[in-house]
Amino acid sequence: MTIYDPTKIPGDVYDTHTHLNDDALYHDVAAYVGRAHEFRVMEMNVVGYDAQANLRAIQIAHDFADEGVRAIVGFQPEDTGGFDAAAQEPLRQQLSDPAVIGVGETGLDWHFKGFDRQTQLAAFEKHLQLATEFDLPVTIHMRDSFDDIYRILQEQGIKKFEMHSFAGDWHQAEKLVNLGGYISFSGMVTFKNAKEIHEAAKVVPLDRLLVETDAPYLAPVPHRGKTNEPAWTKFVVDGLAAILGIDRDELAQITMRNGHRLWPKK
Ligand SMILES: [Zn+2]
Repeated sequence: MTIYDPTKIPGDVYDTHTHLNDDALYHDVAAYVGRAHEFRVMEMNVVGYDAQANLRAIQIAHDFADEGVRAIVGFQPEDTGGFDAAAQEPLRQQLSDPAVIGVGETGLDWHFKGFDRQTQLAAFEKHLQLATEFDLPVTIHMRDSFDDIYRILQEQGIKKFEMHSFAGDWHQAEKLVNLGGYISFSGMVTFKNAKEIHEAAKVVPLDRLLVETDAPYLAPVPHRGKTNEPAWTKFVVDGLAAILGIDRDELAQITMRNGHRLWPKK
């Protein structure tokens, strides 16, 4: 299979949110990183979501530092039950690690009713406090929770953040950009029927766009429904470039530059 036009060098891609620490991918991290490089996905953030995933993210970032891999650590909304005082001290130590470039994923998920709202709110606010204290950007998971997230970001004066795997509407995207945030698009942007996400992508200034896989979830077209992997950020860039009507290599470069601006090397 030809991945790219062999007559020209493709732009390098930055997968800003992936889970090589997930059981679905963790068994063969070296192969997934190698395949990503074949697809010119040269940098990636491995994002933690619970205590074990955070440890794995840091270990992977250490093992593959020379391959462009870095870690982000936090407790996702569904796992905030484990984010008690005892879990916060190791997290503080992890945030001081040179391989850790951000806080997350954190956020609010009002979609699934099973998770306690107060626990999620308290954990989200704690993550934002840590981000401020360590002067690190925040990776935010938002599901049916725009109003609360927007209010809390404003209250806490958070400006450096990635709204990951954005699935809101263009009004929300515009408001988040005006706060200073970056909007990251996943494989969902390649789905034909995701009209609201396409409209949102069009209002985000080019210098605030990011791309990601959220692997092993949300595989892009033409691999929709399969186990996703960082290499397939290529298809997210292709799809987003088509929606925006710009050159895919230019978009790869723009999103790479944006990623470096949001997460400068420590
Ligand atoms: Zn994720």
